[in-house]
Amino acid sequence: MREIILIKNGELVLKGLNRNTFEDILIKNMKKALKNIGEFSFTKSQSTIAVESVDEDADLDDAVDALKKVFGIAALSRAAVAQKDMDSIRQIAVSYLKDELEEAHTFKVEAKRSDKKFPLKSPEISRELGGYILSKFKNLKVDVHNPDAIVTVEVRDKYAFVRGNNIKGAGGMPVGTSGRAAVLISGGIDSPVAAYMMAKRGIELVSVHFASPPYTTELAELKVMELLKRVAKYSGPITTYVVGFTKIQEEIRDKCPEEYFTIIMRRFMMRISEILAKKQGCSALITGESVGQVASQTIYALGCTDAVTQIPVFRPCIGMDKDEIVALSRKIDTFQTSIQPYEDCCTVFTPKHPRTRPKLEDVEAAEAGLNIDELIAEAAENARKTVVK
Ligand code: ATP
Ligand code: MG
Repeated sequence: MREIILIKNGELVLKGLNRNTFEDILIKNMKKALKNIGEFSFTKSQSTIAVESVDEDADLDDAVDALKKVFGIAALSRAAVAQKDMDSIRQIAVSYLKDELEEAHTFKVEAKRSDKKFPLKSPEISRELGGYILSKFKNLKVDVHNPDAIVTVEVRDKYAFVRGNNIKGAGGMPVGTSGRAAVLISGGIDSPVAAYMMAKRGIELVSVHFASPPYTTELAELKVMELLKRVAKYSGPITTYVVGFTKIQEEIRDKCPEEYFTIIMRRFMMRISEILAKKQGCSALITGESVGQVASQTIYALGCTDAVTQIPVFRPCIGMDKDEIVALSRKIDTFQTSIQPYEDCCTVFTPKHPRTRPKLEDVEAAEAGLNIDELIAEAAENARKTVVK
C-alpha cells in the first residue's frame, strides 16, 4: 500500500510574505529535517503538502517524529493512497485504519472532494464509506459530534487519500520567514526555551555563549552545545560563537564596585553579542530573562542592560513563571541537560549585595575605568565560531 504524509500549513494568513515563499521555505526545512531518514518528494496542492518517500526503506514513524518538530506545520497525518473509485477507497480504509477503528467506539467519515467530476458528492462518499465501515466493525457506532476516530477521504485530481486522526504539528512559522536573531545562550533552563520560542515565530537562530575558563569548565561548554543541538532539532542549524570572557570578568572584578559586577558584566555580554549578531546579519538579540527572577532581571536592571544595544532585545520568557518555563523545557527535551550542575560564568564573582534598582548614570560611572571598546572588540575578534546541527 502506498503511504504518504500530508502536511497542513500553519498560519497562512500572511502579511507581506506570499504563500509560495512560505511553502518553499517550509519544504526546504522539511527536507533538512528528513535528511538522515531518507529521500522524500514534496508535492504542493491546495492547502496541503504531500510528502512521499522515494526510497522504500525510509521509516515513516521516524519521518513523522522529525516533521513534528518543524515550525509552520499546524497538523500532519499519514495517509494511504487509493484509486479514485469507491471500491478502492473502501478496501484501503478498512485495512489501513484497522487498528484505529478496532480500538474506537465511535467514528465518523469526513469527505472532501476537490475533483468535482468524481461521481459521488462529498456527503454521498461519507454515507457510502460510513455504511461499509459499520458493516465491517461491529464495535463501532457513528457519532458526528465527538467521535473517537475520524476517517477522512480526500478525492484529489489523480488519487484519493484515506487517513485517520490528525497529529498536532509544532505550529508557528517556518524558520527563515522572519529574519535572524542571536540568542545569548547559557547552560540554564531559560535561554534554550527563549531560543525555541523565537524560532517558532520563524526566526533563524545564531547563538553566542560566554565562557570563562578556568572558572568555567569545558563540561559547561559541552552542555551548552548539547542544549543547542536539541534546540536545532526545531530551529535548524545554529551558527554559534563561543566568546572568551575571563579577561573581561577579571577586569570588572579589579576595577569596578562590587555591587555593580553583574549588571556591568551583562552590559558587556550585550555589546559583544550585538557585534557578532550584526556580523551574522541578525536584527535582534534574544535572552532568557524574566522579570524579577534574579537581581539582574528587575525592570531597572533590564533598562541598564538594554541601554548599550541599538538592536531590539527579545525576551520571550519575560512574563513567564519558572514552572511555566520548566514545562516548556521538558516539552522540548532540554530540561535534563539544563539541570546538570556546571558553573556558568554568570555565577563567577557574584556580588554579595547586587543593586536591584541600579541607575543608569551610576552604572556608567561604575564602568568608567574600563577600556570598553578595546575589550569588546578583542573578545568579538577572538570568538570561536562553529555550527551546531
Ligand atoms: P538561564 O536559565 O537561561 O541561564 P537564568 O535565569 O539563569 O537564565 P541569568 O544567568 O541571569 O539567568 O542569565 C540571564 C540571561 O543571560 C540568560 O537567559 C541568557 O540569555 C544570558 N546568559 C547568561 N549567561 C550566559 C552565558 N554564559 N553566555 C551567554 N548568555 C548568557
Ligand atoms: Mg543562567
